[in-house]
Amino acid sequence: MTSTRPRILTGDRPTGRLHVGHYFGSLENRVRLQNEGAEVYVVIADYQVLTDRDIAANLPGYVEELMLDYLAVGIDPDRSVIFTHSAVPALNQLLLPFLSLVSVAELQRNPTVKDEIRHSSQAAVSGLMFTYPVHQAADILFCKADLVPVGRDQLPHLEITRTVARRFNERYAQPGRPVFPEPEALLSAAPLLLGTDGGKMSKSRGNAIQLAADADETARLIRGAKTDTERHISYEPERRPEVSSLVLLAALCLEREPAELAAEIGGGGAARLKQVVTEAVNERFAAVRARRAELAHDRGALRELLRRGNKQANAVADATLDEVRAVMDSVY
Ligand code: ATP
Ligand code: MG
Repeated sequence: MTSTRPRILTGDRPTGRLHVGHYFGSLENRVRLQNEGAEVYVVIADYQVLTDRDIAANLPGYVEELMLDYLAVGIDPDRSVIFTHSAVPALNQLLLPFLSLVSVAELQRNPTVKDEIRHSSQAAVSGLMFTYPVHQAADILFCKADLVPVGRDQLPHLEITRTVARRFNERYAQPGRPVFPEPEALLSAAPLLLGTDGGKMSKSRGNAIQLAADADETARLIRGAKTDTERHISYEPERRPEVSSLVLLAALCLEREPAELAAEIGGGGAARLKQVVTEAVNERFAAVRARRAELAHDRGALRELLRRGNKQANAVADATLDEVRAVMDSVY
């Protein structure tokens, strides 16, 4: 019997704890889709850590931190599959045929890769930096995902996944019987939340408000957030990106309209805005933080959940790899 439940794949690099940008950019949609009955796969993209640095520092620790963040926000391991890329070798075997389907020029013009090279700590750009979006295509296609809830930085990568799926089907599948769906990106209302320095909020750039931060740390981080010199607060994402991202963060936490919230803060200026954001974040995430702290007591349970997820992901990936081999063999 074939399932008609939508299939979701998405994930994160184990490079630090997850932040509010992850929550409103992707995690919230994952949990909603899971609760609506979708089959959700979450990849902890450990091989991808090595795209922009030489060493994957504290890898087992960050994998556990991600697990804690997932469970604390409501990803339920009884309904969703959480796995690490490195535990599923079939993903790497899919990489090879997939690499043959994209051109070097296509890989080189990826704007997210260019931005990550600018922020990279490596002296020389590695081949992995240019090819990881194809690695990611394997992460998405192994489970034949239909929908990928991601932030805006992922759109060029998703385009590569769609290209790989389409070209694979054209080259190897029988007419009318595609092996892979062409998955769609699902963007949220906050596809690019900015960090305290005004750039994309990122785990690795020291500008993030972590889900796990406590109330005082949240206040300190938001106090130091970049704003601008205009006194009056308004919501104008194009013209005033830093102020508008703060307004949006508070609005998401409070389930309010950002323009309306900005008008209320108005002449209170940046100080009042930061106070509103701090209170909103601390209130919105209080329960998540408490749950996370409780879960952190049992690291053994986290590792057991991961073992289970890895096993489930391997079964699905092996079946897809068998299918890929069969259709590729059949054209020769
Ligand atoms: P790193 O700095 O290590 O790359 P990151 O914060 O960029 O970390 P990723 O693990 O690269 O996080 O991305 C995980 C997911 O979160 C992706 O779907 C990405 O689009 C989304 N995401 C990351 N940062 C943001 C953000 N600031 N706003 C919205 N979504 C985001
Ligand atoms: Mg990133």
